[in-house]
Amino acid sequence: MDTQMLIGARFEAGTEADETILNPKTGETVLDLPEASLGQIDAAVEAAEKAFIDWSQTTPGQRSAYLLQIADAIEREAAGFATLEALNCGKPINAVLNDELPAVIDCWRFFAGAIRALPGPVAGEYLPGHTSMVRRDAVGIVGSIAPWNYPLMMMAWKLAPAIAGGNTVVFKPSEQTPLTALKLAKILADILPEGVVNVVLGRGETVGNALINHPKINMVSITGDVATGKKVLAAAAKTVKRTHLELGGKAPVVVYDDADIAAVVDGIRAFGYYNAGQDCTAACRVYADAKIYDRLVADLSAAVSTIRLNRADDTENEIGPLISRRQRDRVESFVTRAREHKHIEVTTGGAVLGDKGFFFQPTVIAGATQEDEIVRREVFGPVVSVTRFTEPEQAVTWANDSDYGLASSVWTKDISKAMKTAARLQYGCTWINTHFMLCNEMPHGGVKQSGYGKDMSIYALEDYTAVRHVMIAHG
Ligand code: NAD
Repeated sequence: MDTQMLIGARFEAGTEADETILNPKTGETVLDLPEASLGQIDAAVEAAEKAFIDWSQTTPGQRSAYLLQIADAIEREAAGFATLEALNCGKPINAVLNDELPAVIDCWRFFAGAIRALPGPVAGEYLPGHTSMVRRDAVGIVGSIAPWNYPLMMMAWKLAPAIAGGNTVVFKPSEQTPLTALKLAKILADILPEGVVNVVLGRGETVGNALINHPKINMVSITGDVATGKKVLAAAAKTVKRTHLELGGKAPVVVYDDADIAAVVDGIRAFGYYNAGQDCTAACRVYADAKIYDRLVADLSAAVSTIRLNRADDTENEIGPLISRRQRDRVESFVTRAREHKHIEVTTGGAVLGDKGFFFQPTVIAGATQEDEIVRREVFGPVVSVTRFTEPEQAVTWANDSDYGLASSVWTKDISKAMKTAARLQYGCTWINTHFMLCNEMPHGGVKQSGYGKDMSIYALEDYTAVRHVMIAHG
């Protein structure tokens, strides 16, 4: 197992306090990893600064070749990455190997291609005797900070567009899930020039805080909680850093009376509970037309009660535990408070599962109303609420009545109704008759307090590059 940080070309251990890395399936310690000192963070930023001079001068084709090599190396070691991610996050091995790894590899390959084909306006004589052209150049040194729910994927989403765009990076994984980042650091050091990517370990309030306040970092990219995003913005104000914020979500799922209920049930069973609901796009806030509400609650509860988890044979598991005891307790406390309402019924699940690790039963909460905490706050666990509506207009109003704006879905056989609803939902993404599906060609990112800036797609390359005007006077 790789345990050392990458600073320039050096691999070294942090010199500060240990963080205990746990196996969420058992609660047992995997290992302790010390976090970076302020001196080590400075050294990583200096390495990135030095590397920027040459890296930002490489051609898109040269950077593309590096990204392709990284994709190939991850692919060669996919089984090792999957084993490590499953250990550190508690994910079922098949989910990591079959769902996440292909998406991670494709992300690197997508940006390898996209950087060679950026669109832009036509160069020309917009003033007589002067030719103007637009360039897209690197922003500089990017401080990238990732969450624990998809560690290797978040690393790909952040690193691939940043280095494709000619930037250099100091990357900090979540303190809870650094293992695949340390393995990837070894590959990156073998392939990339020294200092293009640096990996430092540590907690948010120490190492993360030092990065977002570092005067030499030009841009901060963070995926995390809304509260963390607000701290990034406050810190960025001091030196007017660029920011790229992917924050939480509370995805509404609008189910009209003409929807294919079997498809809705399948969709929510899969996409409300994937990764144990620790997903900012999870289909967790269902609004169901009163005409189909009872059937939907009954069928969904029956389907969710069959989700397989905590089985000895991991290949049978569909989902894993929560990431930590703290996260499991947080999920449990949401369900406990929801139960206190007379109008709410927990129709399946609702309790901690097993005596080892951090498992929570897949849970359906029926009868929730718009003002209930369970409808308004991000639970980030295997819990889906169902709320009844009587007027379609009410469903759209309630769906939009949220501080979040990341993802949403609408379910109906009427394409006109679907398109009208999609146009009105204030979310970075709206799926029609599906949920959760992402592809590297399309942008992912929020509006409102879910943040701004896009991951994946050429829009990420726009975020990680600065538009510049160059004008030649030639008479
Ligand atoms: P978090 O905000 O606690 O931590 C995210 C990262 O930020 C971690 O690396 C952490 O160390 C760091 N951090 C925390 N405090 C910091 C500070 N003061 N300064 C600098 N860095 C700091 O979030 P989490 O618990 O790891 O992840 C769950 C959250 O992430 C959820 O709210 C979820 O919705 C969100 N999320 C969003 C997306 C998206 O694409 N929008 C994707 C995944 C997760």
